[in-house]
Amino acid sequence: MMKTDSLSLGLYVHIPFCLKKCAYCDFFSQTDYSLADKYLSALLTEGSMVSEQYRERLIDTVYIGGGTPSSLSALQLASLLGGLRERFHFAPEIEFTLEANPATLDEEKLCVLRENGVNRLSIGLQSASNTELCTLSRIHTYEDFEKTYTLARRYMDNISLDLMFGLPDQTEESFRVTLNRAVSLKPNHISMYALKIEEGTPFHRMGEKLMLPSEDEVANMYLYACAFLEKAGFQQYEISNFARQGCLSRHNLRYWKREEYIGLGPAAHSFIEGRRYANKKDLAAYIQALSHQEKPPRSEEITLSFQDEMEEEIMLKLRMTAGLDMAYLKEKFGYAIEKSAARKIREYVKHGFLTQKENIIAFTPRGFLVSNTVIADLLPDE
Ligand code: SF4
Repeated sequence: MMKTDSLSLGLYVHIPFCLKKCAYCDFFSQTDYSLADKYLSALLTEGSMVSEQYRERLIDTVYIGGGTPSSLSALQLASLLGGLRERFHFAPEIEFTLEANPATLDEEKLCVLRENGVNRLSIGLQSASNTELCTLSRIHTYEDFEKTYTLARRYMDNISLDLMFGLPDQTEESFRVTLNRAVSLKPNHISMYALKIEEGTPFHRMGEKLMLPSEDEVANMYLYACAFLEKAGFQQYEISNFARQGCLSRHNLRYWKREEYIGLGPAAHSFIEGRRYANKKDLAAYIQALSHQEKPPRSEEITLSFQDEMEEEIMLKLRMTAGLDMAYLKEKFGYAIEKSAARKIREYVKHGFLTQKENIIAFTPRGFLVSNTVIADLLPDE
């Protein structure tokens, strides 16, 4: 088992409530808030257990996601954030993010967030087209988003926006409008995801009736966005993430750099001491277990093998534009990818999917479009 050097730890907190389910979403969340108070108390009990276990660890990134954390009341947010602060040691330079949806934030909540150390908001805009927002079953219009953003700016220096592309009836032109509008508001960071049709969602049930853009159009949207955002001063640092200078998401970087984190709440994942595990997606069972001071039920738990760790290193590092350091891979895992996959790497570089600078190989934007296939091709045989 390989340990990370750092004593710092990331903390993810899952809030499984949304005012309405979006038509594409398969995240673990529900629209019934009747258990919200009991849930928050269970969450803090899990927080106490974890903080007791990792007492010496300094939390330097927190991400409160969901669900829609900003849909909790100001009182609920205050008790959650205050409870976390009491239980964990937060680093002075902490990055503390809360996910927010337009039309669910007001001045009172923003004051609570700021007073409790939240210093970064990730706002789900998704699209600047009201037609597209309506198709996605979002609860807000573009105008609602602008109001929320303008208000939030008075309280937060660091704001990230989430955008989506490849949406039903979306055109390359309408996506360009979304990008233009997003950039004109000068956010610090943009995350941009292609729509995936997930099983069990209304979009999945619609099947062929969903008028999706073609694969080529979706690829064009992605490539256009990469070039456009770079021109607008955003550095692409991961397949889906773009940041102004100094505004890379430190919490997300933890995931890709294989640094340790703990997740609280049902469906939350943790990676610590060479193990990956996830809490079961069952709100009632979660509350029940914690009310008896028992650990929440887990849905999966694995101790990574040497091979697992090496494959993760290759997959996660290649998600980032900083790329994979082949010398480091050889030193840490004894795998000389530059030799074993030399011909394949040469071909991918020749065709513009990868770049190679000395020991570093990295995807180009075009390469990111086919990254799963390329990575599978580069992984060593077991
Ligand atoms: S608000 Fe977010 S988590 Fe909630 S249903 Fe919509 S996409 Fe899913």
